[in-house]
Amino acid sequence: MRLVLVGPPGAGKGTQAQFIAAHLAVPKISTGDIFRENVGAGTELGVAAKKYMDSGDLVPDEITIAMVRDRLAEDDAADGFLLDGFPRNVPQAETLEKTLHDMGSALDVVLELVVDDEEVIRRLSGRRTCRNCGHIWHVDFDPPSQEGRCDHCGGELFQRDDDRPETVRHRLEVYAAQTAPLIAFYAERGLLVGIDATGPVDDVTERAIEALHRYGG
Ligand code: ADP
Ligand code: ADP
Repeated sequence: MRLVLVGPPGAGKGTQAQFIAAHLAVPKISTGDIFRENVGAGTELGVAAKKYMDSGDLVPDEITIAMVRDRLAEDDAADGFLLDGFPRNVPQAETLEKTLHDMGSALDVVLELVVDDEEVIRRLSGRRTCRNCGHIWHVDFDPPSQEGRCDHCGGELFQRDDDRPETVRHRLEVYAAQTAPLIAFYAERGLLVGIDATGPVDDVTERAIEALHRYGG
């Protein structure tokens, strides 16, 4: 299955991507994670992306698209993938459509996680990520048993720089202006399915998997 997850920052895309990708047995491709890994490793890509990420803006399309093209060409993505955080604007969506078409394939479904702005702000302000395994926690909604430590691997948890309130506000504006138009783009193609992404994480996963079943997942 070839699937895209879409929704505002903090909707729970990364959280759900972990479970949905495992359920479908496809690789999870999170562009934000790939950028953060490159920033951490100080690569040329990371250096180019960092200033945009820090201010909450999108990394320019030529950088992002080249990176995703390379990733989709890897063997493990040949029979399916879950994209989290890409596409994030209409030009990226158009390029993805063309790239897949050239490879003789196409998306099967775009899953929209629907949550309101207030919930998104609550989620982002308490988000913590494991520096070692990347698992996503929340200080109130999904806390690790020991503060600051990942239950899965014992790694150190950190708060993302771009989860500061002023950057979050800007990221929500960027979402509304640039990413939200994808909803209509995919609805027109009959690929969009939206689910209520509020409530416990497990309930959202269940809703997601049920919705994907209707698309052959
Ligand atoms: P969130 O899930 O909280 O919205 P991500 O981890 O997906 O955040 O992305 C973090 C940052 O990485 C974005 O604010 C942006 O700067 C950059 N980024 C990630 N994916 C893309 C993309 N498809 N296009 C441009 N920039 C991106
Ligand atoms: P995104 O990738 O869309 O930016 P994340 O998956 O990183 O979102 O989730 C943002 C924050 O919200 C994280 O701290 C995560 O633990 C928390 N979270 C995710 N799903 C839920 C949920 N259903 N209820 C409460 N908090 C959630």
